[in-house]
Amino acid sequence: PPIPAGPAAICTTTPFLLRPDDALEHALKTSEEHGLPKIAVSAAQGKLLNLVAKSIGAKRILEVGTLGGYSTINLARALPADGHITTAELQQKHADVARANFQYAGLASKIDVIVGPAAETLPKLKPDQPFDLVFIDADKPSNLTYYIQAKRLIRKGGVIIVDNVVRNGRTADPAENTEDVIGVRKLLQHLKEDKDVDATTIATVGEKGFDGFTYIYVH
Ligand code: SAM
Repeated sequence: PPIPAGPAAICTTTPFLLRPDDALEHALKTSEEHGLPKIAVSAAQGKLLNLVAKSIGAKRILEVGTLGGYSTINLARALPADGHITTAELQQKHADVARANFQYAGLASKIDVIVGPAAETLPKLKPDQPFDLVFIDADKPSNLTYYIQAKRLIRKGGVIIVDNVVRNGRTADPAENTEDVIGVRKLLQHLKEDKDVDATTIATVGEKGFDGFTYIYVH
């Protein structure tokens, strides 16, 4: 069941570890002003994405699901001067808000937004070099499709992170059979059989209850 009382207070990242951040706060503010849904990763998760990208020395990153660019900014900041991130987004309005946020953050030159259904745009990607890190955070029924594309595009030793895989415990509840939950389960079942990767799911807690991400290492 959802954790009822003050999960934000349980988390120590926001009160203790994060400094005020103008570009990230601006991205959330403009997203809200333009009526985008409030479904960006949390500040703590955004920082984790940044740290993973730094830790593996990522130079090329792919993201699926841009929204207003909050997670993209966290990831792009981890890149070296010649690093690059490609982020795929369905909605033109979201892409426009995100692009303005990338300008404000001084990161626009490092980020390409590709607009359209990712199931159609990702297969068209033919990068000169493979990606080091892929972050999947779009429509959940297509998780497996995005994972298959991510594997096509990532290097050996790369990392794929998939968000929202716990869904307040619904993924593990046999009584739950929404499209989103089925999409997450399909990916997890696939991962279990996929001998090219090792994966684990880490549950997280935040303002919206509890959820989690799956961390996948590609051999
Ligand atoms: N990663 C963002 C962040 O943390 O700041 C949040 C992304 S939000 C959870 C999911 C995004 O995926 C939305 O902006 C939505 O429009 C986009 N999306 C939904 N279906 C999509 C599709 N078929 N192809 C590409 N993007 C899609």
